[in-house]
Amino acid sequence: LGELATSFSLVLLPECDSTNSRLLADPPPDDGLIHVLATDLQTAGRGRRGRVWQSWPGAGLTFSALWRFAPGAPVPAGLSLVAGLAVARALEELGVEGVQLKWPNDVLIHGKKLAGILVELIPGRGRTPAAVVGIGINLHLPPDAGVEYPTGVTDLAHCLAVPPGSNQLLGRVLAQLYRLFDLYAAAGFTALRGAWQQRNAFADLPVRIVGEAEELTGICAGVDEDGALLLQTQGGLRRVLSGEVSLRLA
Ligand code: ATP
Repeated sequence: LGELATSFSLVLLPECDSTNSRLLADPPPDDGLIHVLATDLQTAGRGRRGRVWQSWPGAGLTFSALWRFAPGAPVPAGLSLVAGLAVARALEELGVEGVQLKWPNDVLIHGKKLAGILVELIPGRGRTPAAVVGIGINLHLPPDAGVEYPTGVTDLAHCLAVPPGSNQLLGRVLAQLYRLFDLYAAAGFTALRGAWQQRNAFADLPVRIVGEAEELTGICAGVDEDGALLLQTQGGLRRVLSGEVSLRLA
């Protein structure tokens, strides 16, 4: 991580149930470092709303980082978008083409899911909450992986002749997270909105929002300065907050 090295503490475990769960259950001290927990194999990886993130030995990079923001930093509503953008930039640095972001928390390559992000907050007792940012990136999925996702799944072995090692990938993603979270803490999502929208997988496409009592359909019109999804519906422009909803092609 070059000049960033002193900012991080890194723990590598050969195996772990869920790196997010570990950091949430036993948060490391508030010592000014960014604490990172990475593992070669997650045995109980989680997605949103009780979904499962699947891993196999040697098949991917899974890690979580605990970020503490300075008092007064913006409420971290758009953090999963910022984390997605950091993953996209790290992949692009490695020469991956066609990286797309699917609101609010997925990284796709040519429409297929390559990486997932799970941001969970630790309440800060009146202060800005800390964020546990969990990231899973597929490097070499086993041929019989059998993961199902509405748009399909992929791995870096399908994108690059020589995929990076997991340590190299981890270093790149952490460096990008560090830069983008710093910008986000200083100026909010506004400064990153354009970069996110350039990679929006569903830009101008008909989509539906699932997971709410009322299913919404419309044209995906990007995101606003808070990272909320903008949906052009027959009834006008609607703003959708991430929380517990999912986006699907209509
Ligand atoms: P959406 O927002 O599209 O509803 P999600 O963001 O809620 O999806 P996540 O919680 O990020 O989904 O990830 C869990 C989902 O990702 C699983 O339900 C499964 O479909 C898919 N998945 C699980 N493991 C992998 C993997 N290794 N690679 C790609 N996709 C996976």
